[in-house]
Amino acid sequence: VREIRLKSRPNGVPTHDNFELATVDLPAPGPGEVQVKNLWMTVDPYMRGRMNDVKSYVPPFQLGAPLEGGAIGEVTLSNDPSLKPGDLVQSNLGWREGFNAPAASVQKLETAGLPPQAFLGAAGMPGLTAYAGLLRVAALKDGDIVFVSGAAGAVGSMVVQIAKAKGHTVIGSAGGAEKVAFLKEIGCDEVIDYKAEKDLTAALLRAAPKGIDVYFDNVGGEHLEAALAAARPFARFALCGAISMYNATELPPGPRNLVQMVGKQLRMEGFIVSTHWDMMADYHRELGQWVKEGKVTWRETVKEGIEKAPDAFVGLFKGENLGKMLVKLA
Ligand code: NDP
Repeated sequence: VREIRLKSRPNGVPTHDNFELATVDLPAPGPGEVQVKNLWMTVDPYMRGRMNDVKSYVPPFQLGAPLEGGAIGEVTLSNDPSLKPGDLVQSNLGWREGFNAPAASVQKLETAGLPPQAFLGAAGMPGLTAYAGLLRVAALKDGDIVFVSGAAGAVGSMVVQIAKAKGHTVIGSAGGAEKVAFLKEIGCDEVIDYKAEKDLTAALLRAAPKGIDVYFDNVGGEHLEAALAAARPFARFALCGAISMYNATELPPGPRNLVQMVGKQLRMEGFIVSTHWDMMADYHRELGQWVKEGKVTWRETVKEGIEKAPDAFVGLFKGENLGKMLVKLA
């Protein structure tokens, strides 16, 4: 089977030279192990942080070793009574076509009628990020006007739809005409094409003349400054990510208008989805209902073949994805 290894640590935007495609033999699985053929893998922005040799909430990737990340696969051989060939499993052993692993280190996947790859996106980690960030971190309440950046992506498009399903006015920001059209389709009341705006704060104030009560930040930088400028008193900011800075080689300037937090009595809170895994059952229950009612849908951008995984990953930083970026492996 083939796998993608980290060959060198990126400096700035990752390039092909940072990755290496290697082939390894898979022996028969040992006692207690299963052999899995991966069907889908995800690429996510947080993986960029793991490519740096710095301490963070997840340890750095090791040079010369296969990369890791969410994957959905099918058991092909089993040496453990808990799983049998044909079972679908979820693991953190993406970036490879297949693997042997202890049966206990993979989770059997019950799809409840959804396509399996949805569990890497809308019904998985990114969807829960949207749900927990809005409901728990930002403490969404009736009447809130919500602003979300990176709105056409995996997390952002779920933020838009969850907020709409709960009856809120939603303003989304994303880059390009195709994404603007998609955001209107999924119910955004106002859409900002940030790539077409010279002054993002002015654009947000036009889109949200009454101001905003919740900002779901996927992007950081200029978007965060605009949200501070448009915030109403007691607005809450859920800091989910800052993709505009992930490839920065120097620390970017902080939000220059941070002082607005004082006068407006704002609350800003960062969060990591793994802390909120207890909400998954509630999320799946609500998501199931919303899907049935036609209130929530999702898009995928799919690259085919393990050799395309680095392209898919780098594509995240160029905005090549509408909805969830995925790699189909088999
Ligand atoms: P997306 O599907 O949103 O893909 C990334 C998108 O970011 C691109 O499509 C692009 O859209 C946008 N983007 C890239 N570069 C820039 C830039 N310089 N300025 C503005 N937008 C940019 O990814 P995810 O939904 O998986 O992740 C979204 C955010 O959520 C990320 O910051 C990620 O790190 C974070 N996250 C945090 C989690 C947590 O636990 N805190 C968990 C999961 C995700 P466009 O074309 O619109 O520019």
